[in-house]
Amino acid sequence: MGRFIFSLSLFLGTFQYLIINLKNIYKSYSSLFKALSFLIILINLVLAGDLESSTVRVINRVNNSTDEIKTLDNLRGVYVSVKDVSRILSKRNPYINSDRLKIVVYLGNNRLKISGNSSFILVDERVYQIPNFTIWDNEDIYVQAEALFNLIKETTMPGIDYDSRRMVLDIDIKEFNITGIEINEKANGTVLRVKTRSSFPEGNISSFFHENGWFYITIADALVDTTELRRSDARGVVRKITADQLGSTAQIAFQIKTKVESHELYQGKDPSEIVVSLRTPMDNSIARIKEVKDRWKLDTIVLDAGHGGKDPGTMGQRGTKEKDIALDITKRVGLLLEKNTKLKVVYTREEDVFIPLWKRTKIANESNGKVFLSIHLNGSPNKAVYGFETYLLRPGKTEDAIEVASRENEVIKYEDRADNRYKDLSGENLIMATMAQSIFMRESEELAAMIQEEMAKKIKSKNRGVKQAGFHVLIGASMPNILVEAGYLTNRNEEKNLRNAKYRQSIASCIYKAIVKFRYSREQYLAEN
Ligand SMILES: [Zn+2]
Repeated sequence: MGRFIFSLSLFLGTFQYLIINLKNIYKSYSSLFKALSFLIILINLVLAGDLESSTVRVINRVNNSTDEIKTLDNLRGVYVSVKDVSRILSKRNPYINSDRLKIVVYLGNNRLKISGNSSFILVDERVYQIPNFTIWDNEDIYVQAEALFNLIKETTMPGIDYDSRRMVLDIDIKEFNITGIEINEKANGTVLRVKTRSSFPEGNISSFFHENGWFYITIADALVDTTELRRSDARGVVRKITADQLGSTAQIAFQIKTKVESHELYQGKDPSEIVVSLRTPMDNSIARIKEVKDRWKLDTIVLDAGHGGKDPGTMGQRGTKEKDIALDITKRVGLLLEKNTKLKVVYTREEDVFIPLWKRTKIANESNGKVFLSIHLNGSPNKAVYGFETYLLRPGKTEDAIEVASRENEVIKYEDRADNRYKDLSGENLIMATMAQSIFMRESEELAAMIQEEMAKKIKSKNRGVKQAGFHVLIGASMPNILVEAGYLTNRNEEKNLRNAKYRQSIASCIYKAIVKFRYSREQYLAEN
């Protein structure tokens, strides 16, 4: 586009020159030509302004200045000059090797190695791939703007923001507040010290071991220096360290070599740090077996009453709200468990309050729950539909399941969207979430089947079976987890039943019996193995 405008203004310039010559010939019309040529100068100025817009504007909030970065127009988008980017973001001159079509840019503590006609950029020793090839042109390299700025933002300068639509690069002071890691070996374990610039609210930090052998620390509202952290030396029980910035959340992951008996996390003030001690067993035969058994022993259950507060859930024809019925049934289940078993019951909510979905999962993981059970009531535009069903997390298969999932996920609209905690539940994200769940899938299936079986015995409604769908509430809970839709509030008869305390008690009693059976079968399994 820029080139076209440029030749157009050249053409207009020639035209203007012609007119000035004509003016000498037709002197009598001179005033008319003066006006005409003034008009053409104006058009030229406007076009020149347009020509400038094919540079990337830079707004530097650090020293309150503006600047510009040269670009190349290309079918694949805007390509920016690496030399200009270096001039603006770096204090050092770049190293340019024209023979090897290579430029090294020094940003902070990092070196960006960029080669011409390549789709790889090295940040220190780590290779990043960008979508399109770079272009070597006149002792400079041009890189697709969005790809380059995103890479720089992610790896070295969190304070830059590029708006590709307006072609503006915004530079602000923003520092990483998670800056490094130190690992110390001790006789009975390993101590991980995560260096921070300030302390975080307790609730922002969570940590857990995953079955895949990785230990994760996630910190909300944090900016992690991913390059620096990945550079840290792994030692002790730690085989490998990675760090990722996921929106406003920082995630640090440690691959652990051996069994860890227990871990403890706390924040230190001076210096500011997050300290995790991983205790490894001195003698790892008997202790290990006991530990594995304890880990699998069903001693804590998380009961999650759907919806609440400003989110009423489904509404019955007589105005019965899903949130109220769900809470009532949940409490009845909890009471039966507390009275008759030694199970520890953890509730995600015990009253009519709004709890975001991510927090429900967090409560589940932090309470060391062994089962996560969410209780809901269903709704359908078809008022004739009734019955009870239990859901598992899996890529949605039937139309029905997708419909229910999208309705239950609706709750997210009530939550603060400032940071997007929920990626689209489709494609890869769904597969990832599902993979993490697959370990618990078999057990979830077992429990779901038991609940349907118990309910079919006692509840005079339709057994709609065990189904699969992608529910947000179930994702991230690292334990078997299921969602019970105990009945359709949109069905007049079922709504009437659900308003009856006796009916709700028998639903609760069925769920309770299923949990007891499930625990028994799990203990049998542990005893045999
Ligand atoms: Zn619901």
